[in-house]
Amino acid sequence: MLALGVAASSGCPPIWTAEDASRTLGVSAASPDNEKPGSAAPRVGVLAGQVVEQTPPLGGPSHRLIEFEGAAAGETLMFRLHARDASGQLLTVALFDEHMCVLVRTQLRDDGALAHALRRDCQAVLVGLAGAADLLERIEVSVERRPGVALMTTAPQAVWLNFAGADELVVGDELPISFAAFDAADLGGAYGGETGYIKQVIVETLRARYADYAVDITTSDDGPPPAEAHATIHFGGQHATLLGKAQWIDRYNSHPDDQAIVYTSSAAKYAGMGLRPDEMGRLLGNTGAHELGHLLGLYHTLGGESIMDASGGVWELAGERRLGRDPLDVRVFPTGFDDAPRVLAETVGLRPGVALQAARLRTSSEPWPDGVLRRQCSACSEAGLFAAAQPPVPGGAAGVAAERWRRALTFWRAQSARMPPASPR
Ligand SMILES: [Zn+2]
Repeated sequence: MLALGVAASSGCPPIWTAEDASRTLGVSAASPDNEKPGSAAPRVGVLAGQVVEQTPPLGGPSHRLIEFEGAAAGETLMFRLHARDASGQLLTVALFDEHMCVLVRTQLRDDGALAHALRRDCQAVLVGLAGAADLLERIEVSVERRPGVALMTTAPQAVWLNFAGADELVVGDELPISFAAFDAADLGGAYGGETGYIKQVIVETLRARYADYAVDITTSDDGPPPAEAHATIHFGGQHATLLGKAQWIDRYNSHPDDQAIVYTSSAAKYAGMGLRPDEMGRLLGNTGAHELGHLLGLYHTLGGESIMDASGGVWELAGERRLGRDPLDVRVFPTGFDDAPRVLAETVGLRPGVALQAARLRTSSEPWPDGVLRRQCSACSEAGLFAAAQPPVPGGAAGVAAERWRRALTFWRAQSARMPPASPR
């Protein structure tokens, strides 16, 4: 979901339930009581966890990070919460790799469980819990490790941009909406007659943002929807507070046939700001790229250039945006990052001839090499990290981002002192 000029609370994502996690991960995420007897693979062992960070929040919920030993791609990790005096209260649970890049994030009850099949080798797996401080005090986490499961495979994604209107369309939990074919005049009188050009900018913007990934974008002007499973992004209609909405956050893309909408007529309220037609086209294209990011599993991040940032203004959205590795929006989790290039590489795959590191370098303001934390920390100088988050305005999104970079850096330093070097991949 993407909103401009509205309170943070109106943004997405919707809170996930354990049922959502089960659907999205493609593996069981039932509470222990509901688990079918005999359905579990043999247990390989319970990993001992160690609390490595317990930080007072920046105005968000309290959180705790518990580090477990690493595991290999293809292994399934079953995380269980054990609460003293369990009351069914919800808390946010996020799993991170050793770089503090999020693997998956969900909401669980205080006696819930989450199974996650690893797509990447992890030198360490960290469980993040966020919620009321008194609840966190009562929670312990256990992890069981199970050998290989059938992984969801990396598969290219077809995307169809619908400019032709829709009838009684339902996206997510929004009311049904009907609208006619996209007409730039709906954006404001100044854009009448620019329909073809603005559509062209929208398509070019979306293709540019996903240029490194196996995402094939066609439109209703090219012909009917593709025969294969495809994501649809509708352009049209109006919403009181939102510019766009995705059906859900489909981590690892278990639903390649989902949909999103960009409420083009909602952009009319910015017509008075004098955006040129190309800027208006980019605003709508970047909004579409943001919603597509959700359909491919990306969470909200912070940073004015990030496509997945949901706190920027009109001019950021009308400019250049990128899919990079950025700090998570505090509403997703109070610490950590989402490494969009890596998630997309694991989900839809890279375009032939594109290397992950090249995709990252094109979209990140500082290098982020594969390998051990120790090398990352020396490669990403403190100055570089702070430059990426400037200017730190107290209380503003950039200030929060800067503070989170600083905390993440402190955490990496502590981690790197303990983490043995690994062979380069
Ligand atoms: Zn969003």
